[in-house]
Amino acid sequence: MTGHDTYRHKGLRNRLVQELKKKGITNNSVLDAIGKVPRHLFLESGFVNFAYQDKAFPIGAGQTISQPYTVAFQSQLLELEQGEKVLEIGTGSGYQAAVLMEMGADLYTIERQSELYKKTSRLLKRLGYNANFYLGDGYKGLPTFAPFDKILITAGAPFIPKDLLIQLKPGGSLIIPLGKKEQIMTKIVRLDENDFEQTEYGKCAFVPMLEGVVK
Ligand code: SAH
Repeated sequence: MTGHDTYRHKGLRNRLVQELKKKGITNNSVLDAIGKVPRHLFLESGFVNFAYQDKAFPIGAGQTISQPYTVAFQSQLLELEQGEKVLEIGTGSGYQAAVLMEMGADLYTIERQSELYKKTSRLLKRLGYNANFYLGDGYKGLPTFAPFDKILITAGAPFIPKDLLIQLKPGGSLIIPLGKKEQIMTKIVRLDENDFEQTEYGKCAFVPMLEGVVK
């Protein structure tokens, strides 16, 4: 793996942070994390020059790295506190995972495509991000490590996976882009054992959340 971080990259990141502020991201912990994570190292080398534009990009295996605004918006909705246990569904490039770890999350992340799982777990370790990586089907969550304070789905989910709801701590929340072709960004808070509250935050577009594992 090649690539390093330079002052030029830091400058570009600061510009991106300013752009996200203008677009309405206010949480300082989110903005600080975006200012720190070297996004250019998460893209295929041909796209390095685009790394700090507010756009989504292909990362191989037919998947994309989410747009920085989307990463920031989802991270902001999480209302993360230091040390909280977070489950991310859809490791992908690992960029969202790195942002959550910069924000102090104790992170568990699941990817269904073994190619991405291998590539990304290697990259994040090299960059010094120590997440708990799993190859598996996010619809099932990680029952062994439940409950979680927060769960973040980074693919478009056609329905609310019941297994994930029951892996939330009471008081915890699930952020889910909900819908088939188009999604509505949705936050579900588990008020207590059997009581959930759902709030919608507008339209978004993600690659689909699919079932099963691809070896
Ligand atoms: N968080 C990623 C976003 C990647 S796109 C990033 O920051 O780059 C969504 C990812 O979710 C893809 O890598 C896709 O393979 C994965 N995915 C889709 N359905 C899944 C499932 N059921 N379980 C785990 N991962 C899934």
